[in-house]
Amino acid sequence: MALLQISEPGQSTAPHQHRFAAGIDLGTTNSLVATVRSGVANVLQDQDGEAIFPSVVRYDKHGVVAIGKAAREQAAEDPYNTISSVKRLIGLSAEDIAESAAGMMYKLEKNDSSVPRISTAAGPKTAIEVSADILRALRERAELSLGGELTGVVVTVPAYFDDTQRQATKDAARLAGLNVYRLVNEPTAAAIAYGLDQAEMDATIAVYDLGGGTFDISILKLERGVFEVLSTAGDTALGGDDIDQAVVDWIISQQGIDVGNDAGLQRSLLDQARSVKHQLSSADSAQFELQHGDTSISASVSVDTFNELLSGLLERTLKSCRSALRQAKLKKNQIDNVVMVGGSTRVPAVRAAVSAFFEKEVLTDINPDEVVAIGASLQADVLAGNKPDSDMLLLDVIPLSLGIETHGGLVEQIISRNTTIPAARAQEFTTYKDGQTAMALHVVQGERDLVRDCRSLGRFELRGFNPVVAGQARIQVTFQVDADGLLTVSALEKASNVHAEVQIKPSYGLLDSEIESMIRDSMTNAEQDVAARMLQEQRVEAERAVEALDAAMAKDADQFLDQSEKQKILDARASVLESNDTGDSEAIKKALRGLEKVSEIYVSRRMNASIGEAMKGKNIDSYAKQDNPS
Ligand code: ADP
Ligand code: MG
Repeated sequence: MALLQISEPGQSTAPHQHRFAAGIDLGTTNSLVATVRSGVANVLQDQDGEAIFPSVVRYDKHGVVAIGKAAREQAAEDPYNTISSVKRLIGLSAEDIAESAAGMMYKLEKNDSSVPRISTAAGPKTAIEVSADILRALRERAELSLGGELTGVVVTVPAYFDDTQRQATKDAARLAGLNVYRLVNEPTAAAIAYGLDQAEMDATIAVYDLGGGTFDISILKLERGVFEVLSTAGDTALGGDDIDQAVVDWIISQQGIDVGNDAGLQRSLLDQARSVKHQLSSADSAQFELQHGDTSISASVSVDTFNELLSGLLERTLKSCRSALRQAKLKKNQIDNVVMVGGSTRVPAVRAAVSAFFEKEVLTDINPDEVVAIGASLQADVLAGNKPDSDMLLLDVIPLSLGIETHGGLVEQIISRNTTIPAARAQEFTTYKDGQTAMALHVVQGERDLVRDCRSLGRFELRGFNPVVAGQARIQVTFQVDADGLLTVSALEKASNVHAEVQIKPSYGLLDSEIESMIRDSMTNAEQDVAARMLQEQRVEAERAVEALDAAMAKDADQFLDQSEKQKILDARASVLESNDTGDSEAIKKALRGLEKVSEIYVSRRMNASIGEAMKGKNIDSYAKQDNPS
């Protein structure tokens, strides 16, 4: 804005302020938010002192009615409107979901959109919107606790998430009004929490993450500050929920209970099993007590019995560990550190089994359900610029290769997996037919040679270049991946200098217009807040402009302006002050623009004069040196 140029030199700008940054672990079962204060990372709690926020949202016709713990407690009452485990759906197409949503009980809307929408009392909801509601609640918790607005966040995602799932997660954060500094892989965040990235030595790290409904094992290699995901394996249907179910099955068989179709009894049994399981993490036995209708149970569960129930599940996780090692072409003894992540690794038998498998002590000092959020917050703090002396710059890698479809449905890889990001690579292609003047580009992600085995990320066209014989055109295709792993592809035909570019908007994500309208929708509630904030900002800007103008005019108005020019500026200044009292931010904006316009001449004369001064000074100086050597 031109007016700002006349502010006096030496007028202070805001000193470096501590920026509020947070790390968010957006989990399938539970989510957490953490932040760094006085150099220490901590998870943030709600009023009841709970850090864990169940990733559950319940809707009614007005929108969100319950979220977090309250929503989880109401799940049995209103199963179709209480959405949990939505992370399993994020970034997937309706087709993907048909394959992977076995066991999910929601009703999906039937429509033409490729983005699946869950039917709820509040209307159709995409996984992105449900995730945004969770993120919004975490944002509120953080802002309440920090006493200010968040400048930015780091959100974690599973290492195996592809571009579409990452983009969808970012969209959810955007919808929740969060500025995402970066997405970081969950296992990488856990390793950061343990300070493994600060170690002098390069290391190979296994991250064993047993959560509520999923198991992931990731093998990371840390080399000169860069984390590389060597391999990932796991089971998307294995976690604490299965342990609860195993306890319930045992109780049923012991007590000879018939659950029948009683969903309420089923739910109560599972709740009680979970409570017993939690107790057994720190006791040798626990009481299973239940009173539901005619059913009454009182049974003691010993830790030995519990461990037996667990052994099958544990063996399955170890099988995945073997597979991850095989993929990474590593032996157990080449793993330097084993990091335990996920609430279910609080179970002592799980720790013991993993420790026995890798033949070394496992890292458990940091709460396994908090460790991912803690690592994310450490990253966020650095990215916010709160640690100016820190040279810790986390580099991440591309999880799956990126390429382009060539003739015959083949994939030409442009950036291969595990390339450090940000990254840019260019490759030249040519035309297939004589006289071709356009080219269709199809961007895919995956490790396979055939397009049909990879995931389609997007298509675009390069049109209007000069026709030449087949094979003679030179088309340079550039892939650029930013620090979040998100891709921009551009193409340039050199001879005619025709250029085209796309930011990859995944086919199964949301359209930009859809996101914009969702953001608008989400703002209607907060419309008044927004209006108030805008008015306040306009007022401050108006005051600042008038102050700067006054200071300048006191100094040199007579030197640069004639009487009528001066009067015009003073009139415009009066309108700004007048509008400032109205409480109408549009009026203030208009008056400011008016002032800016009539002051342009003054600003430019002052600028020219000061440039002239500077030049003069320099000239004299240099003449003095060159021409008068004596
Ligand atoms: P996710 O990453 O899948 O969102 P979490 O890492 O928060 O989930 O893990 C949630 C699981 O951890 C639940 O099944 C919960 O019962 C289990 N869990 C939490 N605390 C304990 C404990 N003390 N003992 C055993 N299991 C626990
Ligand atoms: Mg988790």
